Amino acid sequence: MKTVDIVVPCYNEEESIDIFYSECNKIIREIKEYSFNYIFVNDGSGDRTLERIKLLCSENVNVDYISFSRNFGKEAAILAGLKESKAEYVILMDVDLQHPPRLILEMISYIEKGYDSAAARRVSRNGEKKYREYFSKKFYKLINKISDVKITEGATDYRMMTRQMVNSVLELEESQRFTKGIFEWVGFDTKWIDYKSEERAAGTTKWSYIGLLKYALEGIVGFSTTPLKLSSFTGVIISSFSFIYFLITLIKTLIKGIDMPGYASIVCFITFLGGIQLIALGVIGEYLSKTYLEVKKRPSYFVKDSSINKKK
Ligand code: UDP
Ligand code: MG
Repeated sequence: MKTVDIVVPCYNEEESIDIFYSECNKIIREIKEYSFNYIFVNDGSGDRTLERIKLLCSENVNVDYISFSRNFGKEAAILAGLKESKAEYVILMDVDLQHPPRLILEMISYIEKGYDSAAARRVSRNGEKKYREYFSKKFYKLINKISDVKITEGATDYRMMTRQMVNSVLELEESQRFTKGIFEWVGFDTKWIDYKSEERAAGTTKWSYIGLLKYALEGIVGFSTTPLKLSSFTGVIISSFSFIYFLITLIKTLIKGIDMPGYASIVCFITFLGGIQLIALGVIGEYLSKTYLEVKKRPSYFVKDSSINKKK
């Protein structure tokens, strides 16, 4: 029998875990040719998430868990799950049932057809605010324009991968992980499965607007150096204009003699240039800080407790 690990990051999800487990089991029970194992990753939850997971683990042989020493974020939880998995295939899934378990059937059928990965793509966002959808659209447009990897619009982290692809993903050792970009960057054939997103089964989203903005920036800085080039480009344009302006002033002065042009325009130029310089510095700072964090080589997470290696 082929083995599949279902990796599930959980952060303050005490209400979702049991529903998720029973809904997911309904689907995988029908799939006889594969043996499924769950790896729940408790990402430093402050509620009773770990208790719920431990209970499931003690009652079922196909449930494992990893528990972090604190909240390290979903990206770290995904990384931990992928690292611990030994199965031939891995499925990444959210615990809130926004990733419908029935898609697993479709994913398996595509993997059997020879795809390296089958991933879910959200086509409509039920229960999500309109402006969030709008900004998300804009983000994909922007990142696809300026970066080397093309990130599919509506792409979720819900996907099934072969061992070969998982190993490739794990070879990227960066600690500032933007998984959506990484999955595209490693290549391999991915089949996209469209689905309508559903509302959370229980609990609330852990994303704040600031969090989403940071995530978007992470994606841009992690997968594109265009913003860095943009400042030199702006510099060239502005210098060219100022050189032309210098020539005009020189000719005017030679012909008409010295006059005293407005003080307002000078102030405008200075503040405008000052602004551009600060923006450019900010962009450099963004990359520098990423480099700084990367150079420190800090681990992405610490495991405090885990059932893996303990049980068997
Ligand atoms: N999650 C996590 N660590 C975090 C935030 C979220 O492991 O710091 C998990 C969360 O428990 C859920 C998944 O990541 O299983 C997606 O989170 P959420 O539903 O809040 O995001 P959304 O679906 O709104 O994008
Ligand atoms: Mg969710």
